Amino acid sequence: MDLISIVVPCYNEQEALPEFYKEVNKVTKTMNNVGFEFIFVDDGSKDKTLKMLRLLHKKDPRVRFISFSRNFGKEAGMLAGLRAAKGDYVAIMDVDLQDPPSLLPEMYEVVSSGEYDCAATRRTTRKGEPPIRSFFARLFYKIINKMSDADIVDGARDFRLMRRKMVNAILSMEEYNRFSKGIFGWVGFRTKWLEYVNVERVAGETKWSFWKLFKYSVEGIMAFSTTPLYVSSIMGFVVCIITFILACFYAVKALVFGDPTAGFPTIICIVLFLGGIQLIGIGVLGMYLSKTYLETKRRPVYIVRETEEDQ
Ligand code: UDP
Ligand code: MG
Repeated sequence: MDLISIVVPCYNEQEALPEFYKEVNKVTKTMNNVGFEFIFVDDGSKDKTLKMLRLLHKKDPRVRFISFSRNFGKEAGMLAGLRAAKGDYVAIMDVDLQDPPSLLPEMYEVVSSGEYDCAATRRTTRKGEPPIRSFFARLFYKIINKMSDADIVDGARDFRLMRRKMVNAILSMEEYNRFSKGIFGWVGFRTKWLEYVNVERVAGETKWSFWKLFKYSVEGIMAFSTTPLYVSSIMGFVVCIITFILACFYAVKALVFGDPTAGFPTIICIVLFLGGIQLIGIGVLGMYLSKTYLETKRRPVYIVRETEEDQ
């Protein structure tokens, strides 16, 4: 009998957790010929999430949990869950029911038929999201796909069911700065995309502020593209050419018409422009350097405080 591990990162989700458990159980009951285990990762929640998980584990031995010593972010949560999973297949799901559990049987069918290694989901609409957020999200996917060779799909969720082989491939990537959407695409394998219409959160609030999302997208670009490192060189090159043309122009102008007053404004403009470009270049170098610094430290991505085995 196949075992499916369901990895669920949770951060302050006391409202959504019972709903999630109930809904997913409805679906798992209909799938008779497969076993399930749940791996809830409590990402340093400050509410009753951990307490609820302990109770759930007592009630249902299929429920396992890992609790972090503080909030390490969803990426760390997914990694911990994937490492702990014992299943032949592993699914990743959000606890807020924005990833409809009703898709699980179809996903399992797709992957177990052997044709595909992964069934992933993407939402076709962004209904219920602020328009500015949707606009920037779309822009981000356009930019990152131009800049990187990992295929990162617009609207792709982290909700997916993967074969063991693919999970092992993902675990073999030991980077500290993890951007799962890029990692999933980078390891390759055959992925079937299932589409669904966006569902709104069942309870609680989104944990992503605009600023957090912005930082996340910059991390994504830096983790899967080195193009920004070249951009400043290219800009520098272009500026040099423009400056050369400008210099020729002024030289000719001075020779033909003479130079009655000194070109004070021109100088200020050029100096400020070049200064700006240099700062951008240094900033880009600094960002990559800081990432390299963190990677070389080889810090753990998360620290575990408690698991169901401590019970
Ligand atoms: N999450 C987490 N750690 C965090 C933030 C979020 O484990 O620091 C979990 C959260 O509990 C949820 C999932 O990641 O299960 C997605 O979060 P959310 O629904 O807030 O994001 P959105 O759906 O709005 O993008
Ligand atoms: Mg959500």
